[in-house]
Amino acid sequence: MRKITVAKGDGIGPEIMDATLEIIMAAGAEIEIEEIEVGEKVYLAGNTSGIAKESWDVIRRNKVFLKAPITTPQGGGYKSLNVTTRKFLGLYSNVRPCMSLHPFVKTKHPVMDLVIVRENEEDLYAGIEHQQTDEVVQCLKLISRPGCEKIVRYAFEYAKHYGRKKVTCFTKDNIMKQTDGLFHNVFDEIAKEYPEIENEHWIVDIGAAKLADTPEAFDVIVMPNLYGDVLSDVAAQITGSVGLAGSANIGEECAMFEAIHGSAPRRAGQNSANPSGLLQGAVMMLNHIGQTVVAEKIQNAWLKTLEDGIHTNDIFKEGTSKQKVGTKEFAKAVIANLGNKPTLLKEVSYANSSALNLPKYKRKPAAIKELVGVDVFVHWAGSNPDELAKIIHYLDKNNLKLSMITNRGIKVYPDGFKETFCTDHWRCRFKPTQRNQISKSEIIEILTNAVIHNIDIIKTENLYSFDEKQAFSLGQGQ
Ligand code: NAD
Repeated sequence: MRKITVAKGDGIGPEIMDATLEIIMAAGAEIEIEEIEVGEKVYLAGNTSGIAKESWDVIRRNKVFLKAPITTPQGGGYKSLNVTTRKFLGLYSNVRPCMSLHPFVKTKHPVMDLVIVRENEEDLYAGIEHQQTDEVVQCLKLISRPGCEKIVRYAFEYAKHYGRKKVTCFTKDNIMKQTDGLFHNVFDEIAKEYPEIENEHWIVDIGAAKLADTPEAFDVIVMPNLYGDVLSDVAAQITGSVGLAGSANIGEECAMFEAIHGSAPRRAGQNSANPSGLLQGAVMMLNHIGQTVVAEKIQNAWLKTLEDGIHTNDIFKEGTSKQKVGTKEFAKAVIANLGNKPTLLKEVSYANSSALNLPKYKRKPAAIKELVGVDVFVHWAGSNPDELAKIIHYLDKNNLKLSMITNRGIKVYPDGFKETFCTDHWRCRFKPTQRNQISKSEIIEILTNAVIHNIDIIKTENLYSFDEKQAFSLGQGQ
């Protein structure tokens, strides 16, 4: 008997959770349920993260969490419970299988069967944002080597485990050479360890277009957090309904399973929601805890029910569907089909399914890190970069001199274009003229001089080389 944590959530959450639990218990799942409350009520009771402290203890003790969707109240100050849970518990891998159920569920993509493996902890979701000038706000995009290695390895191990043939990587490393560049490099490194699995890389924009148009070209796709968030919804939607897809959030210690959709508040209490997304999450959960025979039985019964044309409102189509049913009736139909297998849709076999056992990340030896310059960001309300350069040159030292000014990344000094639109947020790059390296005290001198000259510095970024390789971007047009 395995103890799991369950949260019934908000909106349609309780209905689809009851249906899901009824099905998995009828199939013989050996689980004991410990229920916690998360979501709207907890938020509105004054807990800004939507979960009480004691509930964390339950989740951490049981390690496996089946969660229905929740409603995040409108208005500022409420933190997303999903993002917090994923990050607190180190659930680095978000796995979202998206499969067409043609001809039983209407889709333009009848042979689609892919899995999106989305990095779940970093990227722009670090939530580190600042307003720095009247006109400019920033969000830090953080990509780490451990983050990339863990997710890319997970994607290849998943492909190996589930007999998938190809892993594709989506990034935008033609623009973000450092962050997405690292993700792509790590992908290329790790792909070499899996010669039996085909690998390829697509720039995310054209990759997304291809995914929406020809999803059958893909098998497993691994991507950084934001692209994965957007594209996994696209992929689920084009299979026929977002109500059909489940998701697993996997960490080294804990795991959380859910539907990919939200709490659909307008549908709540009407017995009309499709419980399939959460049921798919529960099937992944059963595989994860080693109850693969039960998982397989449920999945085949679910496929058979859809094949029988017993459909909830969201996927019901006159002609293809046979019977429109509510949430409860759909659950009853799946239970009645336990032990049956689909005839046209591909029957599943989970004989080899279980939690993946990945090696722990090992930190690499430190590189030789040298400080080779500094970017000083300035709030200045003028518009002529040559004028700003005159002011900033007051900060020049013997060794460290202004080499370039950019505005939103594009070089505007020296030799800028008068057509370039400039905001009040300027990056002034200082490079050494006599030696290759600089010292931190030289940066402090610049800051001190800026105070004397009344220059409004809003932040600095140190420029480094690692093992003699420049580790920062050039100005656009430099
Ligand atoms: P949503 O996914 O709840 O609904 C989008 C559309 O899909 C609606 O038309 C809805 O009726 C339909 N739909 C969703 N699930 C369905 C199902 N199982 N059966 C039939 N139809 C279904 O997205 P939203 O309206 O943008 O968000 C509603 C709330 O859910 C918000 O408060 C949002 O913050 C929250 N949300 C929670 C999660 C989560 O808990 N994992 C995820 C996304 C959104």
